Amino acid sequence: MQEGYYWYNKSVVKAFDKEGNLHKLYRLKVNDDLSMSYSKPRNGYSQLDVKDMMSWAELVNSKQDYINDLEQNALNLIQDKLDKYSSYTPIIPVSTGKDSMTVLHLVRQLFPSAKAIFNNTSLDCAEVYRMAKTISNCQIMSPKQGFYQYIKEYNKIPTPTMRFCCGMYKSNVMTSQLDKNMKYLLFMGMRNSESAKRKDYTDEVVNPEWGQTNWMGILPICKWADLDVWLYMLSRNIVINDKYKKGYSRVGCAIACPYYTKSVWVLDEYYYPEMRKRWLDILRTYFINNKKWAALNCTIEDFLQKGWNGYGIYRDKPTEEVIDQMQQYTGITDRETVMKYFNNTCSKCGKKLKKDEIALSMKFFNNNTFYCYDCLSEGMGLSKKELKETAKNFKNNGCVLF
Ligand SMILES: [Zn+2]
Repeated sequence: MQEGYYWYNKSVVKAFDKEGNLHKLYRLKVNDDLSMSYSKPRNGYSQLDVKDMMSWAELVNSKQDYINDLEQNALNLIQDKLDKYSSYTPIIPVSTGKDSMTVLHLVRQLFPSAKAIFNNTSLDCAEVYRMAKTISNCQIMSPKQGFYQYIKEYNKIPTPTMRFCCGMYKSNVMTSQLDKNMKYLLFMGMRNSESAKRKDYTDEVVNPEWGQTNWMGILPICKWADLDVWLYMLSRNIVINDKYKKGYSRVGCAIACPYYTKSVWVLDEYYYPEMRKRWLDILRTYFINNKKWAALNCTIEDFLQKGWNGYGIYRDKPTEEVIDQMQQYTGITDRETVMKYFNNTCSKCGKKLKKDEIALSMKFFNNNTFYCYDCLSEGMGLSKKELKETAKNFKNNGCVLF
């Protein structure tokens, strides 16, 4: 496909015709094993030769008035806010993504000395860091402990329902290091069309996660559509992060974000094979160390392919393959013992049990009764903390049950 004519957006390759109408041309499908195929669905898809297409350059040209209006409206809004909050210091948080780069370009037309701040998530890839370093007057703020050290220390991985990393790394690195008593006017790139959560944002926003501060957030492009941002960037030659050119729709939090799916993983596999391998190794080790076969009823391969960023247990009951693999990896000699880890509940309160609760019950009793930490604690007169400590000691001493 000839560069400068096609748009790739949400798994669909699109192009504009000479009249400026957007057409869908191909749908890209990524399979679970990350193999890919194209299709051309009959409904809603067009046949369009490149000679009948409008190039990006022609499109930008034909939309000059529209783009100028967009810009002027945004500049007016920024000027109004600078006047309204004249005692505030403007700053521009940048991620190197398209929206924040656009806001940076707009704000600095009116306030050239506005400082940019790059929030280092510790999860970004080389393109992002390289670009952050080229932005003038840009302070890079880094976390005290990076994501990879953190998950190692706390034996955690992010999942869609427990994405602790968003809170810790996405913007909190910056917001936790900015002076809460200073009056800051933060010009940000959030847009209504990005998500349901953001659809009602107006041009002023105070993020509750900031806590007690004197900061005001301003969203100069909150009404812009995706395409508006691209047209503006192309028309003003704003630097575009190379990750977009590789097919990514987001540039932040590379590899480990549980919100990414296989259409991103296929790119990761191609462009960042070492980073992706490192992440898969971490997931594999996590799975094995925590005997996740039993909690999720899946194999290591299921977990790496789609289980790790799923929303809960993989299947209701384990397959033979899952049980066999758990036995093989854990070194538990008899299969009957392995079976006890699956779908086991507390003999007293009926709660679903975790693997250490099952293992402790086997150590303490030899009568096929199993208890949760609470019931164990009550029955044995030990605190939960002591029980967890005991489980840890067994594991450290090489007991295969834990
Ligand atoms: Zn119980």
